Amino acid sequence: MGLPLLVRLVPAFAGEQSISCATAVVGGGWAGIYAAWRLVVDAKSLPAAELCVFEARSAVGGRTYSVPVDTGGTSLVIDVGAYRFGRGQHLPGDLIRNRLNISVACYQPDCAPDLEFHQTLYKVVDAKGRNAGYATPIRAMLAELVAAGVRVFYEYELTGVYRKGAFASAGAGLSLHFAGGAVLSASAVLLNLPRAALHRLDPASAVFPPSNTSLAYSVLRSCNPCNDGRHAPPERIGLKVYAVYDDPWWVSRLNLTEGNFKATEDGLPPLVGRYHDGPVLRGRADGAGGEIGPGALEVVYTYTVVTPQVAWYLPFAPGRAVEPLVVTTDPALLAPLHARLMGYHARAFAARGLNASDIPPMSKAVLGVWTSDPLAALPNPMSSRLDAMPFPFAPGVCPAEPCLAGVTPQQYVAAVDTPNADGAAARIHIANNDFTWTGFQGLPCCWAPQRAESAPPRSRPTRPPPLQKPTRLPRLPSGPQRSSRAACRPKAARRYLPKVAYLTAFCPPGRAVAKECREDAARPLGARAAHVARPRVLHKTARGVAFPAGPLVL
Ligand SMILES: Cc1cc2nc3c(=O)[nH]c(=O)nc-3n(C[C@H](O)[C@H](O)[C@H](O)COP(=O)(O)OP(=O)(O)OC[C@H]3O[C@@H](n4cnc5c(N)ncnc54)[C@H](O)[C@@H]3O)c2cc1C
Repeated sequence: MGLPLLVRLVPAFAGEQSISCATAVVGGGWAGIYAAWRLVVDAKSLPAAELCVFEARSAVGGRTYSVPVDTGGTSLVIDVGAYRFGRGQHLPGDLIRNRLNISVACYQPDCAPDLEFHQTLYKVVDAKGRNAGYATPIRAMLAELVAAGVRVFYEYELTGVYRKGAFASAGAGLSLHFAGGAVLSASAVLLNLPRAALHRLDPASAVFPPSNTSLAYSVLRSCNPCNDGRHAPPERIGLKVYAVYDDPWWVSRLNLTEGNFKATEDGLPPLVGRYHDGPVLRGRADGAGGEIGPGALEVVYTYTVVTPQVAWYLPFAPGRAVEPLVVTTDPALLAPLHARLMGYHARAFAARGLNASDIPPMSKAVLGVWTSDPLAALPNPMSSRLDAMPFPFAPGVCPAEPCLAGVTPQQYVAAVDTPNADGAAARIHIANNDFTWTGFQGLPCCWAPQRAESAPPRSRPTRPPPLQKPTRLPRLPSGPQRSSRAACRPKAARRYLPKVAYLTAFCPPGRAVAKECREDAARPLGARAAHVARPRVLHKTARGVAFPAGPLVL
């Protein structure tokens, strides 16, 4: 049943701040900032003065959260959210390397293809090869936006979006209402909001179609992904924990530069980490010297649905619903964690004639806590379709999604892109990680590039041609569409995307960087500088457009 027109009227706010901006992007994550950048800077479809960006937090980035951690005068940049990408992914790969001219290095020192993603993964580095953080490209695009004259509003949390003139032909505009009373008049809006943030909008908002029988209504309001519809899904928490040491002993003493480690069954605190993930400085801040350190060891990266033991860390993040970052010196965390790490590596120390008790304690711990709690404030959470990830990440925990039964990826994406299309003037679009279709366009679920690719909305029919898709991304195979149940099965991507196409997409020709990386990795540790690939300033490749280019409108 449709919502009564009355509740769609714009609520009145006393003392409201009135802003006017033709086009609004709400939510400054990867997808929102990329969309704004494409519109104003890259495609130049929109004058800068006509675009405003609104972000609920005091910084952009969202779930891409790079934080500089002070370690006695030197800074280590730690990614507590998203952190790496594949070169075969045109977004953000081509964007980062070829357009924004940002340096990258292999994520793993040996540049070997990642076992899950079947391709070499990269991280963003600075000129000295030090981790610069995956938020760097977002900030670079933001800087270009601001330089062009785009207005960015921080600490503006959207609470509702309404159509003006609901009763008559009074206008084609939209009213966006923000916590605190600010009101924006706009004619188009891109909502880059996580699922829970969208759910928290006023239900009378014009983004929601009036008919609860429409696919868009179902997808936006009734879908409860990875839930059987009868029970509330458990809070799924994604957790990263880094132990910060002045002397990164795993490198300096044990030469452990690569690989995973896990100890979850035989004591607390649990460990599920990787030696090659956290930043380790080599040489002093001025680039001189051969010292190693300080460094941050990733001691945990997992999800509570996969490794429930990591709930041990959660009491140290009481405010996790509103803030994913915790930097703590709490001895109740640091002391047992250090003891556990020393105990776990005791044999490795002994094998080198070292005594673990000589290792100075860590100086602090850094936690990134990502919750799927629907009551959480900002930013929420990992992808709503996390459990549908098409590799053995959390196999078997995702039941079929009844709301998506019989729905094709194209139908889903179209419904999400323009959910309430019942008025030509209602130019409300949705982007966001949480509304991706796992496996669509051959990309795995829940990585920033996937949503960024579809973030800039399609053009209106009467406007210039839409955004071009990256040329080398595989197309959906013809034939029967995948069922939503299939999405929940491990290896669904392999079925959905033939192996050859998968490899073509993720392992494109031109392995110069990987070769350089491998050569670099082969050098002795002390001489090994993190591989820094200097990107070329290219907009096109021999095989066509390297990343989306051309006119774009909202
Ligand atoms: C631990 C972890 C590791 C990951 N690793 C990787 C990786 O290695 N590589 C990769 O590519 N991806 C990775 N991802 C996924 C990646 O972080 C996301 O795909 C991407 O950051 C999502 O971007 P987005 O713009 O869609 O959404 P978000 O980043 O969630 O952006 C949404 C923005 O909207 C804002 N907002 C929310 N509500 C409101 C409101 N009402 N009003 C105004 N603003 C609002 C939020 O503050 C946020 O800034 C990881 C995610 C996590 C959590």
